[in-house]
Parts: sequence; structure tokens; C-alpha cells
Amino acid sequence: MIKYLSLGGANEIGANCHYLNVNGTGIILDCGMHPKRVGLEALPKFELLDDKPTDYVLISHAHQDHLNALPFLIKKFPHLKILTTPQTRAIAELTLRNAINILKDQIKDESFTIYSHEEVDLLIKSIAYKSYHEEFDVTGLNSVSSSNITTEFFDAGHILGSAGIMITADNTKTFYTGDINLSSQTILKGATLPSSNVNTLILECTYGATDSSSLNPWEKELELLVLSMNKVINNDGSVLLPVFSLGKLQEMLATVHLQMQMGKLTNVDIYTAGIGKKINRVYDYNRYAVNRNEKELILHDVNQKDLYEIKSTEELFKYPSIVLASSGMMVESTLSFILAKRWLSQKKSAIFTVGYMDDESPGYLVANARKGDKIKLKESEKDIDVKCEVKNFNFSAHSRRDELLKIVKKLKPDNVVLVHGDAEAIDWMGSSIIKMKKGIKVYSARIGKELLFA
Ligand SMILES: [Zn+2]
Repeated sequence: MIKYLSLGGANEIGANCHYLNVNGTGIILDCGMHPKRVGLEALPKFELLDDKPTDYVLISHAHQDHLNALPFLIKKFPHLKILTTPQTRAIAELTLRNAINILKDQIKDESFTIYSHEEVDLLIKSIAYKSYHEEFDVTGLNSVSSSNITTEFFDAGHILGSAGIMITADNTKTFYTGDINLSSQTILKGATLPSSNVNTLILECTYGATDSSSLNPWEKELELLVLSMNKVINNDGSVLLPVFSLGKLQEMLATVHLQMQMGKLTNVDIYTAGIGKKINRVYDYNRYAVNRNEKELILHDVNQKDLYEIKSTEELFKYPSIVLASSGMMVESTLSFILAKRWLSQKKSAIFTVGYMDDESPGYLVANARKGDKIKLKESEKDIDVKCEVKNFNFSAHSRRDELLKIVKKLKPDNVVLVHGDAEAIDWMGSSIIKMKKGIKVYSARIGKELLFA
């Protein structure tokens, strides 16, 4: 008997956290913080677990919305065993420490106790890790079944260390995709799917509302980006690429470097900064350990200047340059937000967005602005005249919706639970899946609503 309950990230891209009761064993899948909320509001609904058995937390990957609430969960349930891939553990060590300072700045709520550096150190030490395809036992203390419950990670092709998670009990298989990408990026290769059929599939739906034909394949998008970059650079302008420091920075740094090496992109200075540079090292250490392209490419060795070492932003426009700055959605007070304001007034330069923009983020305003517009990035500040070029590219780390349907086709589930998408995305996925297979049951997850699978 398997019970499913969502604690967050059910019908939105939020604080992803799902609970499974597998024959009496309590397994929590992911433990993220809501990217748009602060304080207690940003945490998954842990109180829903109060009367339930809890044994394990399995983390699919190290993005904030899948990982960053883990220290708060462990404070509440210190007995939980944590499991992930070695790469996610290594990245978590960097990002969870980094998050403390950000939380301290954001949160003034006195009922919300932020964890300490010492607590993170202890937490990291307690994280067990298993490589892809290494089966391991997760049978809990209260298991009512005589057979063991096992789990196995499959490469999800989303960011370094990302995993789809299979849970097997009495020949009943439940597969959670986490964030999954079937297509190859510059560094990472596409996901590996289980070869067996599954009973229940918990499926992410990020691109469920986006027509697949409107999304170019990576290689085609790359051609367009290089063409646009060369135009700006050869006209003495500089290009700002707002990127997430985990995943997108590494992919875009590798992309820009390789295009320059092949002589397709004009050679100019590349600027990077911050925690993303430390994450580059984790990508480098693991270049033979995971299924990736360009195994010889060492990101740390790519010639790059540090944005924190420049004397003034004038330097970035003195000669043409390419600047990779976090955050990807130009969230207020981040480096990309500060630089975007500087860029907007530069006639010869350009801001090229390369990924997902939430419609409430400053990045969304920038991405939709065109030369001659006036935009206001912060309430208290005056309008900015848009003088630079703004173009949007899509280098996705998530599967297109036709690929999500391919996952359903391959795994042949009896039940599909749709998560990690807005209402429109979940609707499209749901109706398309029902049309695919007679008798298939499709559920859209809701926080607090329990689902039961035999
Ligand atoms: Zn992710």
C-alpha cells in the first residue's frame, strides 16, 4: 500500500516536497524552499507529517526549490536519514552554507530560527550518498511488509548530480522524476530512464503549457545566440547573460568558451563571480564520474575575470566582454540585477536572457523590454530608459512537454501524479496523458490531499 501526500510544489514551482508512506515506511522526496516567499511561508508544510511515520529524505538535486528547506526539516525530525548522489551532496555543502547569509538578510521574522554554520556542517556529514544505479535499502522501522524497500537513482540530465528516484516495494515501483531533461546540454547528457515499467509516476510538468515546436533544440538556439553575440561584440558592445549559479552558469560558460575555441564566437574577456565559481570545481572534479559531454573541459581553467575584482563597472564596457552573472531572474540586490540596470543605458550593449523567467521577477520586466521602452525595476527608483538590446533565448534544463509524454510512454505507469507546474501546464499534461493510454489514472497533486495506490 502506497500513500502519497504533497507538502509543497504540487501545482506550482514552489517548495518541492512530497511524502510517501510505503508499507509503513515514511519517505520524503525533496525538501525545497519556495523561491518567491520568505520566512516560514517559504517552507513546505512540515506540520502535515506530525502524525506520520518518517524514516528517510531523498534529495533529487541541489536547486534551492528542492533542497534548501532540509536544515529546517532535520531540526524538526532529527532522526531522519538523508540520501542523495555524491555530486548533490558536494554542491549542497556549498549552497546550504551560502544560503545562511542570504536568509539572514531576508528574514526578520522572530518565530523563524535560521540554522547555523555548525548545524550545516553536521547536516552535511550526516548525508549518505549513492551513485546512479546503486540499489540501496530504505526499509523503515515501522515497515509492515516482510520484503525490503529499496531505492535507486537514475541520472536526470538536469544539473550535475540530479536524479530521478525509483522506490521498489513488493514489486511495486514508484518513480519520481525530480527535474528531468531528456535532451543533451553542452556539458550534461540527457536523462537515463529506468528500463522497467512503473506502477506510479510522479512527473514534473515545468514546460507542460509550452508548445514544444516553439522551443528550439539546444544546437539551433546556440547558433542564434552566437550570431547575436558576435553582432554586439563586433560593434564594441558587451553582453550580459543573467544565469543561475548552479547549472546554467556552468553550461553557458562551457558554451561560450567552446564557441570561442572553435573560432565561431569572437574572443573577448569573460567575467564570472561568486558561488558559481566554486560550483564549477564540483563539475570539474566529477567530469569522469558522470555521463557528460566534453569530459576534458575544465571550467576552472577557462580564462575568466572575477566581477568582484573590477574597480568600476566602466571596465566591463571599455572593451567588449561577456558577463555571466547570477541570479538568472535578476532578483533584486543580486549581481545580475545591479548590472542589468547599468546595461540598460548602454546603447551598443545587450542583455541576453537564456532561461526561465517568473512573471513576477525583475528579470521578466527586463526580458520583455525593448529599445525605447521605459521600465521600473524597483518601486522606490525612477524609470530607466531602455537603450541596450534585449533578446531572449531558451537553453532549457527541463524536458519539453513532448519529451514528458515520452517518459509516460516508456514507463507505462498505471497512475501518474502531476507536480511542479502551473495550472495550465498540469491541465495540458493531464488531458494529453489520458488520451495516450486507456485506463491510466492521472492526478494533479494538491498540498495536503492524500492519494492512495494499491
Ligand atoms: Zn531544478
